[in-house]
Amino acid sequence: MRRTRIVATIGPACDDEATLLSLLQAGVNVCRLNYSHGAPEEKTPLYERIRSLEATLGRPTCILADLPGPKLRLGRFPGVVVLERGASIKLHCGQHSMPNADVGNIPVEYDGLSAELNDGDPVLIADGLIRLKVVHSPRELSGVVDCIVEDGGVLSERKGVNVPGTMVDLPAIGPNDEAALAHALKAGADYIAVSYVRTAKDLEPAQKAVRDAGLHVPLIAKIEHPVALEHLEEILNSADAVMVARGDLGVEIPLEDVPEAQQRIIDGALTRGKIVIVATQMLESMTLQPRPTRAEVSDVSGAIRHGATAVMLSGETALGKYPLAAVETMAKIAVASEKGLNSSDQRPSGLARFVSTRSVAHAGVELAKISKAKRIVVATQHGNAARLVAGYCPGIPVTAISNRIRAMRRLQLIPGIEGLMVEEFDRGSQTMQASLHALMDAGTIGVGDRIVAISGSPKAISGATSTIRLYKIAEDGSIHGAE
Ligand code: PGA
Ligand code: MN
Repeated sequence: MRRTRIVATIGPACDDEATLLSLLQAGVNVCRLNYSHGAPEEKTPLYERIRSLEATLGRPTCILADLPGPKLRLGRFPGVVVLERGASIKLHCGQHSMPNADVGNIPVEYDGLSAELNDGDPVLIADGLIRLKVVHSPRELSGVVDCIVEDGGVLSERKGVNVPGTMVDLPAIGPNDEAALAHALKAGADYIAVSYVRTAKDLEPAQKAVRDAGLHVPLIAKIEHPVALEHLEEILNSADAVMVARGDLGVEIPLEDVPEAQQRIIDGALTRGKIVIVATQMLESMTLQPRPTRAEVSDVSGAIRHGATAVMLSGETALGKYPLAAVETMAKIAVASEKGLNSSDQRPSGLARFVSTRSVAHAGVELAKISKAKRIVVATQHGNAARLVAGYCPGIPVTAISNRIRAMRRLQLIPGIEGLMVEEFDRGSQTMQASLHALMDAGTIGVGDRIVAISGSPKAISGATSTIRLYKIAEDGSIHGAE
């Protein structure tokens, strides 16, 4: 079984039902919907399509809604504009669209850019592929900035714009993010990713929106700005999970510093028992080619061996020519890379919350090791008990049982967990017995196996995980307490 989770960005190259189904079958655990592109309502059919596949697949589908964040973007314009090195170009700031954009005239949405840029500043476009230098900045709102092209390329509308070193004065959750967040919560997103988080405070508006909606949707802080690296500890303490968003991070800080930052983010997340997704350009060449480069395979494998709990595909699945091959390749690399890992390489959870559940989870994992249990079965309401068991990385398969589809969907992002929906959750021991029989019928466990069961008592109330039982499956298939 594969521990590492796979997140795939859903876009035009894979959002038809047949391709989506093939991606999920090939091992996608989490579908990422990128709210940077299109109006929020355009995502509604995608939610419906992904959810409808739940029944076809017989397993929960998980949706991650990724908010646009305070990212600067070019405005809209038709076609493409080719920029040659040495050409002069004017950035019209505060312009949302220009029907006749050309080399001389490119719209940039943010009106404040022309007030913040200084002569000589670099301006990077499309994850840094295109580089401009400011020749003259008017230092006023909604002005026109004269630039010269240093590294040319092909520009198309809505491409990201980065100004490294400039602290762009935009809130973490602006009007676009509010609309996206409201849509995502209403549509039933299982995770929300907050872009360009700089401090823990940037997470607060989203935390409040989730609370106000009466939901338990976990937040993923995307680390993609140098200020976030300075405030990493507080962000890691405050977010439920983090993403190493290397696309923007690699433009905002020197590229050669990204691997060290990635490791620092992974280590910080793991010591807190939190999920960490490594993202962007993991199999970039597969956007156009059916096979990845050796370097890309090494990158994915390295991220996993160094502790990433999830790896992500972006353009490879959303826009690429080989979305299915990209997922299959990632799954194969993950399985091969996990071979060398054993439970002692993996670090336990240091999460401060859920103290009693965490202690029970730890004790259950210890019992499973000592008794050479075949599997741990953990009853979970919101998914916390299962997450904590997984956090102790037992190196033993874990089945989470729940009667809540939302918890089951969220667990898709937790490494090393398989989910089983159960009907009734009133009497803990009966539910557990029924679940063990279901696992036996499925051939997941069998005669002679020892199973550690972790649950609440008398029933699984969130935060009340308190019971550990050791079962053994007898010759006749009956399930008994074991010594
Ligand atoms: P994005 O985030 O694709 O939303 O920009 C990921 C990244 O920056 O790497
Ligand atoms: Mn980004």
